[in-house]
Amino acid sequence: MKIESVHTHVLKHTLDEPFDSAFSTFYERWACLVEIRTDTGLVGWGECLGPALPNAAIVEAMSGLIIGRDPLEIEPIWLHLYNQFRDQGQRGLALTAQSGIDIALWDLAGRHFGVPVHTLLGGAFRTEVPAYATGGFRPHGHDRQTAVVEEVAGYVAAGFKAAKIKIGFGVDEDTAVIAAVRDAIGPDVMLMIDANHGYDAIEAVALGNRVADLDIAWFEEPVTPELIAVYPEIRAGQPIPVAGGETWHGRAAFADALAVRAVDILQPDVCGCGGITEMRKIAAMAETAGVRVVPHVWGTAVAVAASLHMLAVLPPSPPRHAPRPPLLEFDQTDNPYRMAVAKKPIVQVDGIVQVPDGQGLGIEIDRDVLGQYVVDAG
Ligand code: CA
Repeated sequence: MKIESVHTHVLKHTLDEPFDSAFSTFYERWACLVEIRTDTGLVGWGECLGPALPNAAIVEAMSGLIIGRDPLEIEPIWLHLYNQFRDQGQRGLALTAQSGIDIALWDLAGRHFGVPVHTLLGGAFRTEVPAYATGGFRPHGHDRQTAVVEEVAGYVAAGFKAAKIKIGFGVDEDTAVIAAVRDAIGPDVMLMIDANHGYDAIEAVALGNRVADLDIAWFEEPVTPELIAVYPEIRAGQPIPVAGGETWHGRAAFADALAVRAVDILQPDVCGCGGITEMRKIAAMAETAGVRVVPHVWGTAVAVAASLHMLAVLPPSPPRHAPRPPLLEFDQTDNPYRMAVAKKPIVQVDGIVQVPDGQGLGIEIDRDVLGQYVVDAG
């Protein structure tokens, strides 16, 4: 069996109502899906985290290095791609592009052997995982506090038992929004805050202390991700567990973070950190270091499915009676193609999502839907 072609599908949807994170404004939703086809007629799908058009360009640049190779040589292909881009790569687009290729190869391998990806990875510890809703950005044209409270209440009404909101807009305003959300949803819903590195160390410590009595499960990306040495200061200076890792790519970056115990909760993204091949190693490093893993997820059904297979194989840490299950991050913000790209959407019921049990990633791509949103097919 040989890889015959590598194609990218860049999807775009223009939002009716833009929204802000701490440092960026979302006017559109973009995605870069990777389709790898073999000479035996098998097709595998992957997805890249981050800027879709640049990802597609890098995937195209990498494709010449893998066409003609046996797609089951997943580890040798991973190392070859990484090594060829290493000198100007190591993280960022080189790794996000490679992640999409790697996920497609795992999907292909599962279809070749007729088993789910989690079976190839050694077997699942669980068949379902609790999910948390990600949302609570700052919407344009609405009062932020009112809108975020209403939005999170909607997630709880839809069955979610956990939600994450966006902060990093200013300590005073953020404190008021967090308090209003906690007040609205009551004490039993798990609540997380994500600053998208919108604070400096002084602000992050202040915010964490200001909301310390609001039962916040974690404080995500308090400061910019390069400031690995500052993360332990945030952990020491305020009582909320600190999370991060969505922009750390490759084992080396995670090794640096784990070495200084930068976070309490590590958040590798399978579509960014180097794919399934790299994420299983990062997860093993985190387990060895005694750091909890809650994967970052931001993408279509392809990204969600790949993440669910990783979540299925994360070992219970520690193993015990009624072990704590890992959590799926489930973006709920406006994106009409997120689940529509799959013929059968991945859904939550009472806050629980089933791990796909079909071959490969366990989802089938709806090419008609791709056609509605595609802006660039390479
Ligand atoms: Ca985040």
